[in-house]
Amino acid sequence: MKEKGNVKLTFTVPSNRIMFLSNILMGYDGMALLRTLDAKRGSVEVMVSRGLEDRVMEIIESLDLKKDRVLGGRKKFYIVTMGCQMNEYDSEYMRRVLLKKGWEEASSLEKSDMAILNTCTVRKKPEQKALSLLGRILHVRKKRPHMLVGVVGCLVEHKAEEIISKFPNLDFLISPGSISGFENVLEELSQGKKCVILRDPTKLPCLPQKEAKKASVTAYVSIMQGCNNYCTYCVVPYVRGPERSRDPKDILNEIRLLISEGVKEITLLGQNVNSYSYGDKRRLSFPGLLRLISSVEGLERLRFTTSHPKDLSDELILCFKEIPILCNHLHLPVQAGSNKVLSLMGRNYTKEHYLKLVEKLREAREDIAITTDMMVGFPGETEEDFQETLDITRRVGFDIMFSFKYSDREGTEAFHLTPKVPEEEKANRLLRLQELQREITTQKYKALEKKICEVLVEGRSKDGLHYMGRTSTNKIVNFLSQSDLTGRLIEVYIEEALNNSLRGRIITRE
Ligand code: SAH
Ligand code: SF4
Repeated sequence: MKEKGNVKLTFTVPSNRIMFLSNILMGYDGMALLRTLDAKRGSVEVMVSRGLEDRVMEIIESLDLKKDRVLGGRKKFYIVTMGCQMNEYDSEYMRRVLLKKGWEEASSLEKSDMAILNTCTVRKKPEQKALSLLGRILHVRKKRPHMLVGVVGCLVEHKAEEIISKFPNLDFLISPGSISGFENVLEELSQGKKCVILRDPTKLPCLPQKEAKKASVTAYVSIMQGCNNYCTYCVVPYVRGPERSRDPKDILNEIRLLISEGVKEITLLGQNVNSYSYGDKRRLSFPGLLRLISSVEGLERLRFTTSHPKDLSDELILCFKEIPILCNHLHLPVQAGSNKVLSLMGRNYTKEHYLKLVEKLREAREDIAITTDMMVGFPGETEEDFQETLDITRRVGFDIMFSFKYSDREGTEAFHLTPKVPEEEKANRLLRLQELQREITTQKYKALEKKICEVLVEGRSKDGLHYMGRTSTNKIVNFLSQSDLTGRLIEVYIEEALNNSLRGRIITRE
């Protein structure tokens, strides 16, 4: 059998049964060939003609020889991603590694041979959701006992022992700083190792090339891992470790790779991209990195997230004036409006400083969209403090706000801070804040009616009828088109503003 057009399946059988299995497979007239990888451990590789994998698997299963689950070949994986864009990037990394190894993406968990749960632990709610999702995945495995189940992401760093004691039959656990070790984990599993745990930091991952099937128009590129800020409420520095900036050469190579796959818009990722710093003598700063990236040929749009207000320098603000492909949008989490609360949070800026930054940003780019994260009910937050939050919300006029009730996280400083705000009070403040923000968001969308916006077309919209794209300010626009304009920058006349999207009509085709 020639290598080309074959699929490799690797697994282990009792070592004294290798010959038996080999003879059986020979009897099937060249459909499959067995190669012994490790005679002592019974680790074997079966080469199968493409398209016959399921038939051969049936034969092997019927012999009831396998000690282990099958790895490799055209098996299917399913990844569930929770939390932030950093997790989405890590999931994309695992997806590409698996595709490179011949796996396929399953259309549902129930059809998968490997399920990976990429977890978030920033608040109690996602943590609880992760545990309940894991329960569901393991329930599905009862019907598909060969299925591999792995947990990755922040919950692994935070609570690996608890996960293992609650769910002892997991196949692998990888903490966020070790994700580039995923390929080795697959290797160890294929050699029959059980419950592989990877928690020691590995080098930062680089996305492997994808066999371009359906190219995306937008992509994330991680430029740094971890955080050194230790805001008093936040678990991220504990679970993602200290800041590590990525080599600009790797960043540029990855961006070029993505562009060659058809990507037009890149979002640079980091917990606090403003403190990006690389090199010894002549350190490359974040504004420097932006300028480098902006000259990459074929890149149409550039975004980044997240920025910490304490590190938003004038030099970075100037980039909005001078780099045309930098989008008209900045996510600048403020967290609270009261200086007392900001100080208790350890944010190292004041409300006045934040307002000044917004003013400078609007001087650099008149119609820049500013989005934010806000928290209510931080320990010690009074009604007057909360009024300051409402006030800054009105004064800035955020385009979008992600708002949360403060959630106590074990291991953080704020966990020990008192007095805690009662749950009902937190819920009440969140409701009031969200009501105010809804009005502001509606106004921001309404203001675009009867205007012309430049839109990068991302593909068909969810309804299958329209096409969908985004404005430079990151607002979704749906429109009808006879031809597929995916990947093109076009001009759209906005006819109507809906709650969280815009509806428009194409006015140019160039
Ligand atoms: N690095 C980013 C965001 C990290 S986490 C930054 O510095 O802004 C994303 C958001 O989750 C935070 O902005 C904050 O609003 C929220 N968050 C973090 N810890 C939280 C906690 N303990 N309770 C409630 N919300 C929290
Ligand atoms: Fe958490 Fe603060 Fe770091 Fe953001 S900057 S990840 S909120 S510690």
